[in-house]
Formats: sequence, C-alpha cells, structure tokens
Amino acid sequence: LYQHFTNMSPSFYQKRRIGDLMAHATNDLQAIQQTAGVGVLTFVDSLSTGGFVICAMAFTISWKLTLICLIPMPFMVILTSWFGTMLHRTFYQAQEAFSSLNDKTQESITGIKVIKTFGQEKEDIEDFRKQSEDVVQKNITVAKIDSLFDPTISIIVGISFFLSIVFGSRYVLNGELTIGQLLSFTTYLGLLIWPMLAFGWLFNIVERGRASYDRVSLLLQEKVDITDHEDALNVVPAGKIEFDLAKFTYPGETEPVLKDIQFSLQAGETLGIVGKTGAGKTTLLKLLIREFDSYQGEITFGEKTLPAYKLEKLREAIGYVPQDHFLFSATVGENIAFTNPNASKEEVENAAKLANIHDDILQFVDDYHTVVGERGVSLSGGQKQRISIARAILMNPEVLVLDDSLSAVDAKTEEAILSSLRQNREGKTTIITSHRLSAIQHANLILVLEEGKIVERGTHEALMELGGWYKQMYLRQQLEELVEHGGH
Ligand code: ADP
Repeated sequence: LYQHFTNMSPSFYQKRRIGDLMAHATNDLQAIQQTAGVGVLTFVDSLSTGGFVICAMAFTISWKLTLICLIPMPFMVILTSWFGTMLHRTFYQAQEAFSSLNDKTQESITGIKVIKTFGQEKEDIEDFRKQSEDVVQKNITVAKIDSLFDPTISIIVGISFFLSIVFGSRYVLNGELTIGQLLSFTTYLGLLIWPMLAFGWLFNIVERGRASYDRVSLLLQEKVDITDHEDALNVVPAGKIEFDLAKFTYPGETEPVLKDIQFSLQAGETLGIVGKTGAGKTTLLKLLIREFDSYQGEITFGEKTLPAYKLEKLREAIGYVPQDHFLFSATVGENIAFTNPNASKEEVENAAKLANIHDDILQFVDDYHTVVGERGVSLSGGQKQRISIARAILMNPEVLVLDDSLSAVDAKTEEAILSSLRQNREGKTTIITSHRLSAIQHANLILVLEEGKIVERGTHEALMELGGWYKQMYLRQQLEELVEHGGH
C-alpha cells in the first residue's frame, strides 16, 4: 500500500484526503491482518476439531444420532452468514466514519493556528464531537450485530443437546445404545461448542477483514496515470525545450487552462513567465515535469517528446522549486542534500551560498545541523524558500525551474540570488515564473500569459517597446518599489 502511495500521481492526492489514507493504512490493514492471521488459525482450528469430534461421534457411537444432532446446523450457517452480510455493511460504514474523523483530526491539528487565530476552537470541538459521536454510533451498530453471534450459536447448540437427549433416550430404551454411549455422545457434543463459537467468530472476523479489504482494494485499483512507455529512454534529457501545445484541460474540467502555447528555448537560455494569478503559469510548468499527459500537442526536450524518456530520468533533469515548498523534519543540511545525501559539506554550503541562505544558517543554534520544523527551529517563509532553492541548486539540474519561489524574499535578495545563479549556471537552462517582473528581466525570452494564452512575448527591451501589459506592470512595480523605499 505504501509503495502504491509513493507511485501515485499528484492528481490522486488531490482527490484523497491525508487522514483518510492514514486510516486505510492503519485501521483497515489491522482488520485485514486479523483475518489473515487469527482468522485463518480459527478456521483451521474449528474445522479440524469440529470434524474430528463429529467423526468420532458418528463412527464410534451412532451415525443416526450424529445426523439428528446436526439438523440445526444449516440454520446456524444461514443465520451467521446473514449476520455476516450485515456486519460487512455496517463495519464498512464504521471504517468510513473513522476515516472522516481521522481526516478531521489531522486537518484541525495542521490548521490549529488558523483555528485559534479566528477563535474557532468551540466550533471545532463541536465538529469533532459530532464526528466522533458518529463513529461511536456506527461502531455500536457493529457491536449489536456482533453480539447476535454467540447467543444464536448457543441456542443452536442447545437445540442439538435437546435433540440428542430426546432421541438418544429413545435409542437407549429400545436398546440401540447403552447409557454409557449416550453419556459419551453428549460429552462429545460439549466438545463441539468451542468449534461452533469459533466458527461464528470466524464469520465475524472475515467479514470485518473483507469490508476493510474492499476499502483498501479501491485504493489499490487506482491506476497511476503517468507511466513509463515500454521503450522509454533511460537517459537524462538535455538540450532544447519546445512547446507546441494546442490545448490543455485539467482532468474532469471542461474549460482549457492553456491554449496555443508555442515557444522554444535553447539549452542554457533563461525563460521568464509572467501574468496574473490563475493565468496558467504553474500549469505550464506542471506539463514540463509531466504531472499530466493529457494535452493536445507536443512538448519536446532534446528533440524528443517528454514521454520518450523514463519519468525518473526526466525528473532528474529538472530541479523544480514549487510555490508551496516543503521541508522535512530533518536538519537544514539534510534538507538541502535531499536529492544527493552523499553531497560533501562544501557542495551543500556552496548551494546554500548561491541561494543566499548560508549566512542565515550560520546564525542557527547548530548551523547546518539544526533540525527544521515541528521538532526544531521555525523558519521564516523566505528562509524556507531559499533552502528549497538550495536543494534544487545542489542537484545541478539541466533545467532549474523556480515557480514563484522568490515571492517571500525582498527584491535585493532576489537580485543577489538570480545574479549568482546566472554566473553559476552557465550553459544550463533556467525557467522562472514570478510576480515581480524584475526577477525575469534578464531572461532570453519572456512570455506574458493571460487566461492560458500567450499575449505578449519577447525580451524585456522588446516588451517595453511594445507598450502593453508588461510595460504597464513593470513601470507600476518600479514606482511601488520607489515608494516603498521612501523615494530613494
Ligand atoms: P498561475 O500559476 O498562473 O497562478 P495556475 O496554473 O496555478 O495559474 O492555474 C491556472 C488555472 O488552472 C486556474 O484557473 C486554476 O484554478 C486552474 N487549476 C490549477 N490547478 C488545477 C487543478 N489541479 N485542477 C483543476 N484546475 C486547476
């Protein structure tokens, strides 16, 4: 299941909630484990003990009396399988409710700062209470069905006893059996109680396991939508990147988010992509790292289409720094050396220097050994961004993609990072999307996106001459910068 989780594409995680996935991995697997372990053991145990006792009764005492005492058994099978079906359904619902509760808890703990800032604790507790009440109710329903098994089996066994004593006594009276044999017979019957209870318990446990297995199977059946083609190349792509895209629509949506995107970027060039929020900048980058395949048109890298390469190799060529950067609960150094844990201290420090975070790191308690996140230091948004950039720089990828990754650093730091990147990444391609136009003004090609279309393109100078959105925006940002610095 874990392997499946790591194989799945981002679209899977967009549909599924974390708490729900965790519930599958804990509660459901536990129920399946019960069936596979204790369930199988109980099955073998009840079958062998029960079968042995019945054979002993039939062959050593009386097969007629054995058949008579087995008359109620089919009823037991019918009733327990009926309870089993009900149990299956209710247990499935109980597990679903647990999934929701798990998800709610996970979300609340992650978002506790927001909950507190907006004073929503009471509402959140109330919400939790309702959901946990739901879990309790659904589990009580399961328990009610659960509790039907034992009495039903006891009644059936009781009827068996009754029948064997009534008929056994008649056989004793007409001399077919001795009293001693009847006594042994009922003793044997007593030995059948455990296998029968175990049989009922088996139904119970198997139905729980099946319900959980159904839930886990649903997850396992989800197909990875981006896979390697059979003859995919096992080489890291390099060279020219060319987009010739007619249309891209997100799966399940109707409106295309990218239309008529055509451009080409030689190896070593820098591409800047700008435009309003929602214009499609991130989407364009997602297509380049092959998060989605379902577009009309072609994207080539080194003269071959993206699916021509093994996904792993394609991703090796691209160092992508997303907007929502993520740092692990590990040391700063480990976070930077994430893609290459064997990197030397110098390499890590060099990447940090390029990302303009080295000096900050030296200020931390244990410099590069300081633990980040929950168990360690809290970093500012800008520091996190720069550590994420250092991580991508250390990878020294063919293509470095900065997806609005400098939004939380000031203009001066941004300029410092970009100019050191320009010097150190000679011959390698860089793609930058940004709100701040100063970040991309040195690019060889700038694309202005609006509602998924390229509306302006060219170098900074060409776009300034054009006098469109880019120029307006550039002048406005310059003015804002000036005002921010008090006119100096
Ligand atoms: P930008 O990076 O320019 O702000 P995006 O590429 O993130 O823009 O988004 C472009 C459009 O695509 C937006 O309208 C957004 O709502 C939509 N969009 C983004 N991601 C998804 C997704 N996973 N599923 C459906 N629509 C999406």
